[in-house]
Amino acid sequence: MSETTETIFSKIIRREIPADIVYEDDLALAFKDIQPQAPVHILVIPKKPIVNLANAESQDSNLMGHLLLTAKRVAEQAGLTNGYRVVINNGADGGQTVYHLHIHILGGRQMKWPPG
Ligand code: 5GP
Repeated sequence: MSETTETIFSKIIRREIPADIVYEDDLALAFKDIQPQAPVHILVIPKKPIVNLANAESQDSNLMGHLLLTAKRVAEQAGLTNGYRVVINNGADGGQTVYHLHIHILGGRQMKWPPG
């Protein structure tokens, strides 16, 4: 399985539901998380509906690199000069709730380790 059926993020990509979009290009979209867990909490997603990291394929390698570099760019844009955390929740044990691959960017406070 490499494609989702439909998620809330597909609707955000198609502008069918509102989101606070902070970055967009041909391959990726970044928007503020609706339930922020830190002063800055942004999600970076591919426009291609990949389910999660476990479903990314070798043909997605350029896209995966692009998403990470987009996360860096968005973090800089958000002013996170003192650092930030990048998270990908994968599957049930990973705490994934939306089955469209996304990178969380969390910042604006001191992060703790280990995560919950
Ligand atoms: P996950 O738990 O799958 O790693 O992360 C999904 C994230 O999507 C959660 O942090 C959740 O708050 C966010 N989210 C879920 N629905 C929406 C929505 O409709 N709009 C926005 N902006 N974020 C959402």
